[in-house]
Amino acid sequence: DHERRLIDEMFGVVRVAGESEARYGELEQRMLSLQRENLDLVVKNRMLSEVSSRDALTGLYNRWFVIDKIDSEMNRALRHGSPMSLLMLDIDHFKRVNDTWGHGAGDQVLQAIGKLLRDSCRVYDVPGRYGGEEFCIVLPETKPGSTEVVAERIRSRLEATELPCGDARITVTASIGIAGMDTTEMNELLSPAALIDRADQALYSAKNHGRNRVELWDHALYQGTGEAPGH
Ligand code: GH3
Ligand code: MG
Ligand code: MG
Repeated sequence: DHERRLIDEMFGVVRVAGESEARYGELEQRMLSLQRENLDLVVKNRMLSEVSSRDALTGLYNRWFVIDKIDSEMNRALRHGSPMSLLMLDIDHFKRVNDTWGHGAGDQVLQAIGKLLRDSCRVYDVPGRYGGEEFCIVLPETKPGSTEVVAERIRSRLEATELPCGDARITVTASIGIAGMDTTEMNELLSPAALIDRADQALYSAKNHGRNRVELWDHALYQGTGEAPGH
């Protein structure tokens, strides 16, 4: 009897161990499938954040992403005492393109401009579509003066490039405004909105001075625009 009980007990232990192993295997499978699901979610999240930061027509970054980038680059520039620039570009007389060739052809031109901008940037520059036919580029570690050279290159390249537009090929020009943070300037009180405003002021000055040109924001020129000089 004693031996039988002992054998029964041993079999009991063996059975429990077998069940535990099966349970363990089950848990292991469940964990693996959870890990797979998790990886799936990480990939989907990346795709979502990529899609939500892009402009659907041109594939450039959208306004919201760009504003975020301006903010972080301005903070970085302040922390490290390094420069940064913002370039704003508006297509000249774009309404005429739509009126002449139709909105769909106009979209095609905007797409081609998006590609030209992307191709004209360094890897760490951030080209975006600010809205409509207005584009921008955030240039980290770049002085506004150096950005003028970049802008002039983009301006002349655009002027010389034939862009697909429906059945035709056309050229367009752009006016460009630049504002930035220079290491020689006190910029502590400058906000992203104020920097965008400066680039816009320079852009509209370029429009007023005949279009197809680049202008750099300057204290002396814009003291009368409501912004206190030096801020
Ligand atoms: P300016 O030189 O003063 O900038 O003249 P403009 O005609 O470019 O300026 P305006 O702001 O008067 O017109 C912008 C035009 O851009 C009007 C609008 O229909 C067109 N536009 C804005 N967004 C899009 C778009 O997504 N696709 C197309 N095809 N056209 C657009
Ligand atoms: Mg325009
Ligand atoms: Mg415009």
